[in-house]
Amino acid sequence: MSETSRIVVLAGDGIGPEIVDATRQVLDAVGEFEYTEHLIGGASIDEHGVALTDEVTEACKASDAVLLGAVGGPKWDEAVAKDPTAPRPEQGLLGIRKALGLYANLRPVKPSPALIDSSPLKKELIDGTDLLVVRELTGGIYFGDSGRRDDNGGTAYDECAYSVPEITRITVAAFEAARQRSDSPRVTSVDKANVLESSRLWRETVKQVAEGYPDVELDHMLVDNTAMQLVSRPADFDVIVTENLFGDILSDEAAMLTGSLGMLPSASIGAEGQPGLFEPVHGSAPDIAGQGVANPLATMLSAAMMLRYGLGRGEAADRIEQAVDTVLASGLRTPDLYSGAEGENKAGTAEVTAAVLAEVGQR
Ligand code: NAD
Repeated sequence: MSETSRIVVLAGDGIGPEIVDATRQVLDAVGEFEYTEHLIGGASIDEHGVALTDEVTEACKASDAVLLGAVGGPKWDEAVAKDPTAPRPEQGLLGIRKALGLYANLRPVKPSPALIDSSPLKKELIDGTDLLVVRELTGGIYFGDSGRRDDNGGTAYDECAYSVPEITRITVAAFEAARQRSDSPRVTSVDKANVLESSRLWRETVKQVAEGYPDVELDHMLVDNTAMQLVSRPADFDVIVTENLFGDILSDEAAMLTGSLGMLPSASIGAEGQPGLFEPVHGSAPDIAGQGVANPLATMLSAAMMLRYGLGRGEAADRIEQAVDTVLASGLRTPDLYSGAEGENKAGTAEVTAAVLAEVGQR
């Protein structure tokens, strides 16, 4: 892509503006981008009375990609506690995900070699882990019919339904992501086909899609087994694709393998040609906002995902990811990563950002 990419920046609340500002500096070092800044979450509530305005939604839809910091904070939580009908910052997030039709959530889990000791797993188990969880975001049990009945002293139900087109598009997203990641791509499709009819249709459909991807190795795994394998042999996975509920649980389990919240990026993507949304997994960290100590690396790695999956600039993404690894290997650590071990140096957001900039070099 040679033309300038148009990025909508939604810094949000808490540490959002600090980490997004640091990330923009790194983006500017690897390419040319046109940014438009807008409010979302609590900042938008303060200004407009709602967490997301129509104007911002339209700006996002017209962009090439959306980079988001984080939303939320005690100020707006307290307002909701007093008045449950008060606007909530997370309505901004849910609103923009829905407006952009984001149906695939991608979360890579690749512990930086310098941070292997932060993992709750033994070093020999976590070593070499480099996996991607692709979760279906808009279907399944979270969006099915649900309700209550009076029978048997009170009964509740939630329906899990998946259509062939819904399964097809998320499977395609997973296979395409697998191809972008490596020359010998592997996809593990996770279901509960021994029990659930929706999982049996899931498996049949995944197999059909796979016929169009002869270069991608496919296997199927039951979700309970996957939960065990993720902690016993995480390095054996490449891409995991799964439905909404299973993905919700497995992506959080996989995220904890790294042991460091400030390091985890994510991408949510929609239909071909539509802008994706790229954001760190962590929240707005109001406890450290404005102190200059926020870890900007998850946001920088989210920007790398934006370059790779949203803007087709894989090489620039590689440069940012390698720079982050090199900076961590040098021992520089924001306080959330600092363990006091020999060779570590505590640093603030600005110092870590300067070190990443020095590593990525200039265009
Ligand atoms: P959080 O992720 O904001 O913070 C948890 C802990 O991790 C805190 O101690 C925080 O200081 C630390 N932390 C998180 N990110 C960090 C970073 N980049 N650098 C250094 N330390 C970091 O979760 P929380 O405290 O449960 O939530 C705080 C607010 O964020 C709440 O209002 C919540 O609703 C919101 N939230 C937003 C998102 C999002 O925008 N996607 C996600 C989760 C929580």
